[in-house]
Amino acid sequence: MKISKVFLYDEPSVPEINITELGKFIKKNFCVEVEIREQFFSFFKESTRKIAYELATSRIFNPLAPFEKRTPTSEEIILEENSITNFTNTSNIVMYDGFEFRQIVANTIPETESQPDKFHLICSDKLTCTYDYEDYRYHGRAVICSNPAIISTTGIIEAPAKPREYYLGMFENMIQGNLDMMKNQFKGKYLEYHDVKLSEIIKGYAMQALFYYLTGQPFCESKNCRLYNAHWQDDLLHSQLTVGKLCNDHQKILDEITKNCE
Ligand SMILES: [Zn+2]
Repeated sequence: MKISKVFLYDEPSVPEINITELGKFIKKNFCVEVEIREQFFSFFKESTRKIAYELATSRIFNPLAPFEKRTPTSEEIILEENSITNFTNTSNIVMYDGFEFRQIVANTIPETESQPDKFHLICSDKLTCTYDYEDYRYHGRAVICSNPAIISTTGIIEAPAKPREYYLGMFENMIQGNLDMMKNQFKGKYLEYHDVKLSEIIKGYAMQALFYYLTGQPFCESKNCRLYNAHWQDDLLHSQLTVGKLCNDHQKILDEITKNCE
């Protein structure tokens, strides 16, 4: 086993993560010691101002162009500082470049904890995005696989698309002005903010992040596996809730990884 310890960071503005349960899940499945910590940037709070500045520079202002660093305004820096110190949850969704964000996280981890056998898994409500050169635009990502790895709770909700009918219905109902009716019609077919289902779904993303680090392969082709890279909310709910386990092949790989575990 390549990892001796997992450091798991909470996102207090999203209590539905249920960090204690997630920690137990990782410990049980990967047979590894797990240390639960508070929100990443408040755990390493000695450099809050610097981090706030860096986070503000990692924001995306044009989703149709590759990342370009720009000097943040003092307002943007204060906003970031507040998100670290008060866990203020604004309803505005801010997009961050996932690789820049990951780099800020990596730079914050002290050298004593940066060894390859220590795996850092950060839960964040910030929407991490990556630029796709195939369609020349940014896309939201639920998970940034690396060490440190980032799971974006906003990404889980926003990145896999809602049913096609939802978007069609949204358009029709917007004209007719009955959005609430439509929301009821699709209730349960996609994740909402502060959805209790998040605690179960986030376990699948934690598995993807760990599989990536342990095997280089985070995803599975099968929808009947928690490593399935869902592009649609229905597929996400299917693989993480209806199925809720690894396929046989991936279970075997995991058994092999953890076989000498006591
Ligand atoms: Zn699989």
